[in-house]
Amino acid sequence: MDTTTRIAVVGAGLGGLACARGLQLHGRSVTVFEREPSRHARSQGGTLDLHADTGQAALRAAGLFDRFHALARPEGQEQRTLDPVTTELLRHDQPAETDDYAPEIDRGQLRDMFLDSLAEGTVHWGHTVTGVEALGDGTAGLLFADGTTQDFDLVVGADGAWSRIRPAVSAATPAYTGNTLVETYLDDVDTRHPALARLVGNGTMVASSGGQALIAQRNSGGHVRVYADLAVPVDWHVTAGLDLGDAEAVRAYLLRVFDGWHDDLLGLLRESEGGFANRPLHVLPVGHTWAHVPGITLLGDAAHLMPPVGVGANLAMLDGTALADAIATHTDLDDAVRAYESVMIPRSAAAAQAAAELMEVLGEDAPVDVDAIRRQLNDRILNAR
Ligand SMILES: Cc1cc2nc3c(=O)[nH]c(=O)nc-3n(C[C@H](O)[C@H](O)[C@H](O)COP(=O)(O)OP(=O)(O)OC[C@H]3O[C@@H](n4cnc5c(N)ncnc54)[C@H](O)[C@@H]3O)c2cc1C
Repeated sequence: MDTTTRIAVVGAGLGGLACARGLQLHGRSVTVFEREPSRHARSQGGTLDLHADTGQAALRAAGLFDRFHALARPEGQEQRTLDPVTTELLRHDQPAETDDYAPEIDRGQLRDMFLDSLAEGTVHWGHTVTGVEALGDGTAGLLFADGTTQDFDLVVGADGAWSRIRPAVSAATPAYTGNTLVETYLDDVDTRHPALARLVGNGTMVASSGGQALIAQRNSGGHVRVYADLAVPVDWHVTAGLDLGDAEAVRAYLLRVFDGWHDDLLGLLRESEGGFANRPLHVLPVGHTWAHVPGITLLGDAAHLMPPVGVGANLAMLDGTALADAIATHTDLDDAVRAYESVMIPRSAAAAQAAAELMEVLGEDAPVDVDAIRRQLNDRILNAR
């Protein structure tokens, strides 16, 4: 395989960028197509915990670990579980000072690290892909929303949950889990909302009852993301007659849903500054797999969308660097992709199975040792064959 092999990555999320970075480190050329018009087009959202053996391993492979370490928040591993009515601390896990197993980092900071590491012009912003076609000779034709096409030796679908590349290899579609996160945020909590800052602590705070929960996560700079976890049909807002763009109407609705919960917890909803983003949670079938198609592959959520229990971004980055490594260490491109898929698919199946089981445990309202569960989950990922 020479360095003129034409490789396209669709999607400049964490998985696609990790793949592009890995390829460039190995001296390969790559083009990333991203539908968003620029890197600043939207806020990248909350905080991610990056695990030693997966996300952090990918960052080491990408040569970005030191940068990550400088920005990471090990204290963000703190977990507080509160009684929803009294706010009594039901469980409190404080990381040891030396605990670097799963430090937190803002998703935006992480994405910027990857973007800054790429050669100028690698990401083609404002390029929406509508599909891909296997051309029969091992290459693939990429179709764009403006009607143009481009042929590549390999197209990597790193375009997330609703991938436009996935249909070329698999008929699977994401299914709704029955839970929706309604997300909002507070800024400068330490100065503007000190009582709420104490409630949340340095990491994650959870209060749950009857399958519904309020979750708050501290990001850098006193920014707190708040998630109302609702067990509702996917069209809950239609049934409720709510305009999701009307922040005050959504706030009033949520305050009714959590009526009877402690006033301090309701303060997370009452005082929030942003609007409310509706995030219905979907998953691909556990063990999603496909018959190898020359010229096309998947990584990250496009390959293995699972519930948000703290593994998706870790795996997406690991997939990206693993695919780049496989391409660098094989002489034949198709052999490289097959080798990558033979490791990635069973690993993802193990992760999805463990994530589904963890969701069951989390749905039971009893306080859980999140750190211990996370370590078990990672062991299952690493031992998957
Ligand atoms: C609320 C929430 C919290 C989470 N917390 C964590 C956590 O703590 N830890 C963790 O590991 N995971 C977490 N996850 C999961 C994690 O966010 C995902 O698994 C991860 O972002 C997947 O990365 P990706 O690169 O595969 O896809 P994405 O991050 O979805 O990136 C896909 C990219 O492709 C682009 N794109 C999409 N369609 C097209 C198209 N047609 N043409 C061109 N470009 C396109 C998108 O704009 C986007 O930039 C969380 C998820 C949610 C919803």
